[in-house]
Amino acid sequence: MGSNIIARMHPYAHTILEHMPVRVALYDAQNLCLLDANTRYLQALDRFLEPELRGCKAIGHCMIEWTPKGSSSDFIAIFRQVAETGKPYHGEEVAAATHEGLITYWNFAIEPILDGNEQIIYLLQTGTEVTRQVQARQQAEQAQNALQAANVVVENERAYLHTLLEQLPEGIMIIDATDGCISYANPAAAQLLGMPLNDMLGTLVHRHPAAQLSTLTRLYGRTIAPWNFAVVRALTGERLNSEETFVAQPDGKMIVALMSSAPLRTPTVQGVAREIAIVFQDITVQKTLEQHKNEFFSVINHELRTPLTIIQGYAEMLRIHAEQADLFDPFITTAVTNITEQSDQLCRLIEDMLNISRIEHAQFVMQRSSHDLLHTIIHVVENQVATSKRTIALKLDGLQKSDTLMANFDEERIIQVLHNLINNAIKYSSSDKNIDVCVYYTPARKQSVLIQVKDQGVGIAESELPHIFKRFHRAHQLTTSISGFGIGLYLAKEIIARHGGHIWVESTEGVGSTFSIEFPLDTQ
Ligand code: ADP
Repeated sequence: MGSNIIARMHPYAHTILEHMPVRVALYDAQNLCLLDANTRYLQALDRFLEPELRGCKAIGHCMIEWTPKGSSSDFIAIFRQVAETGKPYHGEEVAAATHEGLITYWNFAIEPILDGNEQIIYLLQTGTEVTRQVQARQQAEQAQNALQAANVVVENERAYLHTLLEQLPEGIMIIDATDGCISYANPAAAQLLGMPLNDMLGTLVHRHPAAQLSTLTRLYGRTIAPWNFAVVRALTGERLNSEETFVAQPDGKMIVALMSSAPLRTPTVQGVAREIAIVFQDITVQKTLEQHKNEFFSVINHELRTPLTIIQGYAEMLRIHAEQADLFDPFITTAVTNITEQSDQLCRLIEDMLNISRIEHAQFVMQRSSHDLLHTIIHVVENQVATSKRTIALKLDGLQKSDTLMANFDEERIIQVLHNLINNAIKYSSSDKNIDVCVYYTPARKQSVLIQVKDQGVGIAESELPHIFKRFHRAHQLTTSISGFGIGLYLAKEIIARHGGHIWVESTEGVGSTFSIEFPLDTQ
């Protein structure tokens, strides 16, 4: 380090200054010439200087000569101000860009040093770098800002969810799993239970007025448990999925509600349900409608079947009577045949409607026993050939007509399915087109047989294919021109599925359709 003024002033000054944890420099107050500085100061200064000025070369030179252009003018102004006014300067976290453009932060002071005549002769600059502290604080501030922004998002989402829950038509309740207290209920839940919302919050579920009526009740022909039974089940950890329950409101009104539950688990304590969420849906209107529908079906059954049976009976008697009396009047024969066919058709329709209702009420049971499926198929085809006046060919593959295909099935219902498929083939193709009923059997796959009904009719549009097995679905372009209700295939699918079989269709519009059934056989 060049000529050392401080060292000359005191024998230990140099050592002290070199080991101080601050950066120190002495400037001439007149021309701001850097007189001397400790190593720390010079090392720091090098970071701001052009490479050729580094390494103590600034000592002995005025500040204006070595300070980099632009950024330093503020510093020179500060030094000048202290030299002129004698007022010390203290700067905190002053930013300064290094030669490489990195921003650094400094706490520094400039003190004036006076001579015996009170003249300012030196300026003593001391400083410490606080870049790390400032950066750490800036990062903490950024993190805090981000946290605040995230909090705003969470708060907005919370408010949104709250509004959503408050406006949902479904009743929602949260119940504390430890004490059975209702900790949250939305207005729909209060309305459903017939209680003021405020009375519900904090109420113990088992002390709820509706809990008093704690017996199973018969409603709409079924035994249903009260809602709080289901809540107790949910509290024991059972997951409820659309359970039918009833609510006896304080005014005596009975509500049927579907109830589902889900445990709300604590993320920290694995597997422990802290709260239970319960969702109710009022289905009283649907239940009433269903009840009306059932009543309607039962009326159809009784009120239409009886006269129909009488009509069928008289038609049969008329036919026998005409035969016995040798009355071969073609008009009478046609009339009797028509009466019989149309009333049979009506009977089938009523039966189908009733079957749909039975499926909905889990009362659609199969009367299965062992039969020869091939015999049933041959019988249905022969019957259709005799009554329809259409060319219906029975094609056997891997089989003889005299073979047997033993299977366990409800014969009446399988006959119904086959009739339906052949009737559709007749209905949806012109009278000059052939219909094939094919049975494929391979001894290698003796656990099942493939039955196909093929027509060359109107076919089914690709967009309709996924829907035609649905209840009351009819392909659009046909609905007006060909009569039907769209229930035959729905029942067929249901019947085949209940026998463990599979039914599907392949069809090309304008070319024809093939309905296939894979049906399980007895393997013993
Ligand atoms: P329905 O014939 O009484 O309308 P189905 O349930 O038997 O009722 O059939 C449902 C629909 O599937 C029919 O309306 C028709 O659009 C279509 N469909 C069924 N079979 C055929 C077929 N063989 N060819 C063309 N379309 C058919």
